[in-house]
Amino acid sequence: MSRKIRILIVEDETAIRTGLKDVLVYHGYDVDDAADGPSGLQKAVSGRFDLILLDVMLPGLDGFEICERIRADDREQAIIMLTAKSGDEDVIAGLSLGADDYVSKPFSVAQLVLRIRAVLRRTRIGMEMDHRIRLGEDVEIDTRNLCGQRGAEKVAFTRREIEILQYLKLNSDRPVPRDELLNKLWGYAKDLGIETRTVDIHIAKLRRKLEPDPSQPRHLITVRGAGYRLLVAE
Ligand code: CA
Repeated sequence: MSRKIRILIVEDETAIRTGLKDVLVYHGYDVDDAADGPSGLQKAVSGRFDLILLDVMLPGLDGFEICERIRADDREQAIIMLTAKSGDEDVIAGLSLGADDYVSKPFSVAQLVLRIRAVLRRTRIGMEMDHRIRLGEDVEIDTRNLCGQRGAEKVAFTRREIEILQYLKLNSDRPVPRDELLNKLWGYAKDLGIETRTVDIHIAKLRRKLEPDPSQPRHLITVRGAGYRLLVAE
């Protein structure tokens, strides 16, 4: 039998922490926890966990800072932020620091479990796919090492950005709607019509990395009313 999937919960509110732990253990995960920032960081950088659930407001050291320090070390680590507010600022800060996803409190445990599964599934898909993407004459992306080259310039990607590129590449014969990206990559239910801003934030970041002129995209284009399309060089 393969080993259990290991999850770390960093959360200072005892009721949430212990409640989550019980549920995740019930779902078959191997769970460890931390109740403050410094001990959370210490466990998080150990590299022992397949996924980290990271609260934002924590005593000692906040979740954003912990996220940033984990990423500085390990770009592959899967992280879901637990944000108290669904405000754009928190979400943008978390995603731009490299969190894979976020869940706003109060959240339903069933939704969180779905999101955990989606993140873990992507981590695995990412390992099995073709690891080179070429765009036009000047862009080459190495998905396995989360890096690439645009002309003479080196570019680094987050895992989530690479997953978006891989999904768009797989479906490069058509524009992909934002709802579909949210469903396939983030694990959101279909047809909710919400949270599409999450996708737009990532697309904007990708364009800054891939496009000579991000305001006039040539590789990652918008098809009006239909979605995003990646024009892949054969
Ligand atoms: Ca907290």
